[in-house]
Amino acid sequence: MELLEILQNAPKDSQMIADSIVITHAKLKRYDKILCSISGGSDSDILIDLCEKFDESSKITYVFFDTGLEYRATKEHLQYLEQKYGIHIEQIKAIKSIPFCCKTYGQPFLSKQVSEWIERLQNHHFQWEDKPFGELYKEYPRCKAALRWWCNDFKKSGEGKESSFNIAYNQYLKEFMVQNPPTFRISNKCCYYAKKMVASKFKTKGKFDLNMYGVRKAEGGARRTAYKTCFSSNEDKCDEYRPIFWYLNETKRIYEEYYDVVHSRCYMEYGLKRTGCAGCPYGRNFEEELEIMQQHEPKLFKAVNFVFKDSYEYTRAYRKFVTEKKKLSKR
Ligand code: SF4
Repeated sequence: MELLEILQNAPKDSQMIADSIVITHAKLKRYDKILCSISGGSDSDILIDLCEKFDESSKITYVFFDTGLEYRATKEHLQYLEQKYGIHIEQIKAIKSIPFCCKTYGQPFLSKQVSEWIERLQNHHFQWEDKPFGELYKEYPRCKAALRWWCNDFKKSGEGKESSFNIAYNQYLKEFMVQNPPTFRISNKCCYYAKKMVASKFKTKGKFDLNMYGVRKAEGGARRTAYKTCFSSNEDKCDEYRPIFWYLNETKRIYEEYYDVVHSRCYMEYGLKRTGCAGCPYGRNFEEELEIMQQHEPKLFKAVNFVFKDSYEYTRAYRKFVTEKKKLSKR
């Protein structure tokens, strides 16, 4: 279909959708070897639908990175997308799967950054002592940055807000860890081996000149806030384009209704608000997700409880500790 025709048929009440159509058309014209990462989530459904409006979509290689802990509903949805649009979605297995990484390096706990600091401290056999930075630095001289996190040594922001590099950013975490040192290994390596490394290896191997993915600014989170705009040009020659970066939830709703976009059963049937790595302990609502998983995908429920067992228990204990501390502070 020609651009003009696509625009004439587009919803009249969203300039943002019209803009994304125009810019995506220009990118598809300009680039020759395009990689498009598909997650099986609702944003990536819109991304495919948007791209498949243009004849140039034949330049796109769709790829799904399989972390080793995926919903059955997501896998089924990939098949549905392939049929609906007549496309092929390449499924690439992780260099090291999440279960393997958790067993080998440790389990993720709380957030990527927190897991990183804890992993470094554990590698130096840190004893979770509440001592001043200078003293600890003498005891553990090769672990400066992680000790600075532990001792809240990073500067607060201009508005006096706690730095996200300090342990105090997570309320009562230090007190909790001093009283309950972790008895299992913590690590964020699964993100690296099951997601980041496999994606960058695939990107380099395929010599793509444009990488597209369905990130939206309105979603928040570290990954989203790292980007300022929908496009970035990279020195390694593979530029990045985020076609629905500016879409608000309302824009998304208009698009879905207008173009009749059907999402995976994770959303439509299970009631999940977002998908991603199943049961990731970083998720604030991982308990709710586990309940849903137990009901709809009991095998996956069993698997994640095996893989993330210690992290779930430690997170629960930490959350209970915070609740009690808050109650006490109100008395
Ligand atoms: S998002 Fe969570 S489960 Fe997925 S790779 Fe990263 S830490 Fe592991």
